[in-house]
Amino acid sequence: MKEKVDCIIVGQGIAGSVLAMELLDRGQSVKVIDNNHYHSSSLIAGGLVHPMSFRRTILSWRAEELSKFSIDYYKKKEQELDASFFEPLTFVRLFGSIEEQNTWYARRSEKPFDEVLQSFDEDWMRYDVECNFGAGRVEWSYRLFLNIFLPKVREYLEKGNCILNEKFAYEKLEVIENGVNYKELEADKIIFCEGFQYVNNPYFNYLPQNVTKGEIIVVKTKNLPEYVLSKNVFLLPLPDGNRILGATYDWDSMDLVPTQKAVDELLEKFEKISPQKPEIIEHRVGVRPTTRDRKPWLGQHPVEKQLFIFNGLGSKGVQLAPYFANKMVNYLMEEEKLEKEVDVARLTNKYFNQNVNKKN
Ligand SMILES: Cc1cc2nc3c(=O)[nH]c(=O)nc-3n(C[C@H](O)[C@H](O)[C@H](O)COP(=O)(O)OP(=O)(O)OC[C@H]3O[C@@H](n4cnc5c(N)ncnc54)[C@H](O)[C@@H]3O)c2cc1C
Repeated sequence: MKEKVDCIIVGQGIAGSVLAMELLDRGQSVKVIDNNHYHSSSLIAGGLVHPMSFRRTILSWRAEELSKFSIDYYKKKEQELDASFFEPLTFVRLFGSIEEQNTWYARRSEKPFDEVLQSFDEDWMRYDVECNFGAGRVEWSYRLFLNIFLPKVREYLEKGNCILNEKFAYEKLEVIENGVNYKELEADKIIFCEGFQYVNNPYFNYLPQNVTKGEIIVVKTKNLPEYVLSKNVFLLPLPDGNRILGATYDWDSMDLVPTQKAVDELLEKFEKISPQKPEIIEHRVGVRPTTRDRKPWLGQHPVEKQLFIFNGLGSKGVQLAPYFANKMVNYLMEEEKLEKEVDVARLTNKYFNQNVNKKN
């Protein structure tokens, strides 16, 4: 006899993890299928949560509600899972020019910048840091240790017999009238959370590909302060004393091959932070599930009504996942409609109908 669950979820990155927890919290039964985080970008991510888009010194999209929601969420999950994986960060922006410094201080007369953008004084002579135009501190900044959070969620799912560690075989999915069958499982719905690997999903690969390869290096440095420094790149202290230097953005490829070009770019940017030559300890590569309009994809397949997607979290998955998992579950439980700007249906006319017409 088949095992019956309300929802199958494919993928246990940050998207699938937070969605699974939300469904369980609301009394739904779930089975998550994940192939041991193969090529997961969540495990590469620095796990930073901050509300800024530094290029123009503005808040990122819906930063206030998303930051506040995610901060409350992860603090609550720390208690429920009885683990420490979320901590406040001192996040320091080194200004790149006098114009940036002026914009920073001018913005502070507006809400909520008065709360977010703080002044920051430091005796820089103590450190090996280039700070020619001053610095500011960004409030609402946290770090999620994804290397702790994801295994903790997995452990929780394992205890409840809610996870299968295997590669999802799309050809084994059978869509039936009121649900889906997958091997020994029967479910009302299936929700795909494969990150950039949605490109292998025959049901959702009609969606436009705009993923972004990202590389980071782990470096050994000397005489730098114990907080995050940001100036075109970020330098994030790790518990072992090394630092993550990241990240690159490459829109032209999605192979997971580490490149010398990325190392050169990161080291060149590092030189603007500090004159020292850091030792490279490790080089990591991931692919962000970015979307053309920079909004996530939530919702239903245009034809197969039992199939859903929760993806497109881009370069801010940690901040976006809790709020939109909550919205997704409201929608799945028919408590609320999806907002148009995140509903994947916004792409149906342009990408799905066109592809279907082309094939016919
Ligand atoms: C270099 C870099 C730095 C980043 N830094 C940050 C940061 O500081 N803060 C931040 O918020 N975001 C950051 N990001 C972005 C963040 O990584 C993404 O937003 C987020 O990880 C996306 O999560 P996801 O769950 O959608 O995808 P993923 O983490 O890729 O998870 C997808 C999961 O699905 C599984 N899967 C896929 N296909 C199958 C299949 N067929 N069968 C079974 N399992 C399958 C995979 O194994 C994986 O576990 C960074 C990204 C990169 C590349």
